[in-house]
Amino acid sequence: MKLEGIHHVTAITADAPGNVDFYTRVLGLRLVKKTVNQDDPTVYHLFYADEEGNAGSDLTFFEYPGLERGRPGAGMVHTVVWRVGSEEALGFWADRLAAEGLEPERDGDRLRFADPEGMGLEIAAVETNDEPLVARHPEIPGELALQGFDGVRAYSAHPDASRSFLEETLGFSSRGARDWEVRGDERGSFYVYDEAPPRRGLGGAGTVHHVAWASPLEEHEAWRQRVAAAGMRPTPVIDRFYFRSVYFREPSGVLFEIATLGPGFTADEPLETLGEALSLPPAYEPLRERLEGILTPLPDPRAGRPVP
Ligand code: ZN
Repeated sequence: MKLEGIHHVTAITADAPGNVDFYTRVLGLRLVKKTVNQDDPTVYHLFYADEEGNAGSDLTFFEYPGLERGRPGAGMVHTVVWRVGSEEALGFWADRLAAEGLEPERDGDRLRFADPEGMGLEIAAVETNDEPLVARHPEIPGELALQGFDGVRAYSAHPDASRSFLEETLGFSSRGARDWEVRGDERGSFYVYDEAPPRRGLGGAGTVHHVAWASPLEEHEAWRQRVAAAGMRPTPVIDRFYFRSVYFREPSGVLFEIATLGPGFTADEPLETLGEALSLPPAYEPLRERLEGILTPLPDPRAGRPVP
């Protein structure tokens, strides 16, 4: 069994309209699902991805209106890294982000910046045979667009405590003292620890909640058993409708999920109109009218835009 790299990354926003604007208009991702938090249907769960909503490109946000900003610390992912295909693409993104008033920092083949709520982001020029997972955007030529995740960087106070679990239980391949590749038959991602800052981390707006690794549907239960056998106390399998999930904390404290490749975001709406209407889990469908009155109004990221 091999995990197929990152499935999705889930983070927290206090500003859903600003979040939609930044990730769709500026970064050019597609809003592929607009649904509610399954534990609190009065707030959104927003999903951004490539044009088809593929695992490997899917960044999701829980909305907590008014929540204070957090800060990453030990046991938290602090930076999400996307791939682009060339040096030229890095130059394009440096100009585009600067024009938005962000201050991207170029470091060799990478560009570091933060989203409007301070979440660490990075774009890396990477040579890979993995399929580019690209969304269409009128101002972003396809060959310069984000191509899906390259990896995530987390903080750990005790990276050695995680090593045997990551390598022996999850099958991560070591690339260095604190650096692993997570590669399956189709895709791969990296997982890296940086030295944790002395201050404790705080969950809040602009922080990553968890990272999910991708499993074929038929191997999911076996992954759960393997994690349990390593003493990591996984949750039961939870049906998230678009995929199935198991959660656990790895030894450095980072919240991991293993999520299935499928059924996917077309389970309840067609590919052509993904993310345009509010999608509700069946149990909340009777509350639709009430919820539509409570939820924060959001911009339609593709309004008036001819589909190229
Ligand atoms: Zn998740």
